[in-house]
Amino acid sequence: VTAHVFNGKAIIQEMRAQIAEDVRRLTERGARPGLAVILVGDDPASHVYVRNKEKACQDVGIYSEVYRLPTETSQDELIALIEKLNADPNIHGLLVQSPPPPHINERAVIDAIAVHKDVDGFHPVNVGNLLLGGAETFVACTPSGVMELIRRSGVEPAGKHAVVIGRSHIVGKPMALLLLEADATVTVCHSKTTNLAEIASQADILVVAVGRPKLIKREHVKPGAVVIDVGVNRLPDGKLCGDVDFDDCLDVAGHITPVPGVVGPMTITQLLSNTVLSAKRSLAKRD
Ligand code: NAD
Repeated sequence: VTAHVFNGKAIIQEMRAQIAEDVRRLTERGARPGLAVILVGDDPASHVYVRNKEKACQDVGIYSEVYRLPTETSQDELIALIEKLNADPNIHGLLVQSPPPPHINERAVIDAIAVHKDVDGFHPVNVGNLLLGGAETFVACTPSGVMELIRRSGVEPAGKHAVVIGRSHIVGKPMALLLLEADATVTVCHSKTTNLAEIASQADILVVAVGRPKLIKREHVKPGAVVIDVGVNRLPDGKLCGDVDFDDCLDVAGHITPVPGVVGPMTITQLLSNTVLSAKRSLAKRD
């Protein structure tokens, strides 16, 4: 049996068409959604990510501002800009591209972002709401995009065994919480897990977010499982590959995501979606 391979292009096109329609309606009502992205320094990968976010905004009609600041920008200068954007009524979503240069404390920067504009979902209040439940919160874009993919696989998480490999703040932990919220039985594996293949191969839903090329082989995959590969790794030949050995797992998995092409664009789509959500909330308060 060959797995169903998620068709990133079709999924993203459909979702972005819906977002563009929402943006059009909001713009007609004088509430065009706006996203501001701040990038400090010259990390090439960060520049690519920011350009992709800017382009995605333009494609769906979201107003966007990008601030490309020099590496020597001080933390105080950065926070002053965040505070200005927090108060700007044209900006509904605001994020600082990670990682900032080492002299900047990322936690302090995230804490400075207004909770109601934190469309990345990294502010401690939004993270806390993910744990406790809460109104008007934002969920981190990569894990919420993965949940959308799981929904689209047709596999209902309730009662299933979901295994998340990786426990980072931005992917693994929020991912585990969302799966738990969807009534899956959740196991989290990480760098100190000793019997990875034994645990992973019990998963009906396997989400991998590690950052090790082709770590996951067919022996890690239960026949028929939904396999979502969040990893993005650059190989010596310059090509990108995921954490899952796609070719090795293709005839074992039930559904599988190729890398690149699905989770990355899905993450940006969730960012657009959170920005629209923020604009809708601000319009509801105005009316
Ligand atoms: P991270 O480095 O913060 O965390 C990696 C996690 O993997 C850690 O929790 C660690 O315990 C675990 N780990 C390390 N080695 C392991 C091993 N041998 N076995 C099991 N677990 C192990 O990384 P992150 O920020 O969560 O990102 C993970 C990957 O996902 C990276 O490749 C990153 O580029 C990618 N990513 C992609 C997107 C996207 O939009 N496509 C978004 C975020 C991250």
